[in-house]
Amino acid sequence: MSGVTLQKVVKRFGETQVIHGIDLEIADGEFCVFVGPSGCGKSTLLRMVAGLEETTEGTITIGGRDVTRADPADRGVAMVFQTYALYPHMTVEENMGFGLKMNRVPKSEIAEKVRRAAGILRLEPYLKRKPAALSGGQRQRVAIGRAIVRGPEVFLFDEPLSNLDAELRVEMRVEIAHLHKEIGATMIYVTHDQVEAMTLADKIVVLRAGRIEQVGAPMELYRDPDNQFVAGFIGSPS
Ligand code: ADP
Ligand code: MG
Repeated sequence: MSGVTLQKVVKRFGETQVIHGIDLEIADGEFCVFVGPSGCGKSTLLRMVAGLEETTEGTITIGGRDVTRADPADRGVAMVFQTYALYPHMTVEENMGFGLKMNRVPKSEIAEKVRRAAGILRLEPYLKRKPAALSGGQRQRVAIGRAIVRGPEVFLFDEPLSNLDAELRVEMRVEIAHLHKEIGATMIYVTHDQVEAMTLADKIVVLRAGRIEQVGAPMELYRDPDNQFVAGFIGSPS
């Protein structure tokens, strides 16, 4: 079981408080989407779950385990970023397996994990290519593949599609929904795209200035937003 729980989570950068006591439960296998305006704290929250940002106050648990002070590598999470910084001199295969190689995972095991991830992401034909010979969508799939091969319990996505053009975004959205179905892992996904939120989420968390404005299933928020702010994000998909 690998649900994620946040209890009274606070973040301060120096004197500036940016997260004001977040309580949230994300069930095992749930697809949870964070939405909210730029600067509301979406990335900071995600980075605290990943352990890339220290949690000032409160508790974060993953699968019932208190990971608030745990090393990022010991949390069972993998993060997919907006800028998919792949190593240009390595092939797709090498890029996907690099993290495992660093952890001294045996070669045959790496090959098997990369093969399986490539299958899920339909990347088999491109394994021997270098990133420069890939489209933007294919590169983003490789970045997701890097997360998959690590076998995380929880996937964290920070606006993974915002650098792609509209057509590719649709394609990748389908890809990510497929991935969730296939792997069944818990996913926390940050976006400012209403359509992505509505189509991918089991649960949407609307954030505003470091606080939760409303949490609910997409259609709940769509039909019954608590206020104008939530309606602005969810009530009128573009
Ligand atoms: P979002 O991802 O929703 O756009 P962020 O989580 O990036 O928002 O930022 C939330 C707030 O925290 C913003 O006001 C931002 O300026 C501030 N912030 C983020 N990172 C830092 C940092 N390392 N130092 C100081 N302030 C930061
Ligand atoms: Mg952000």
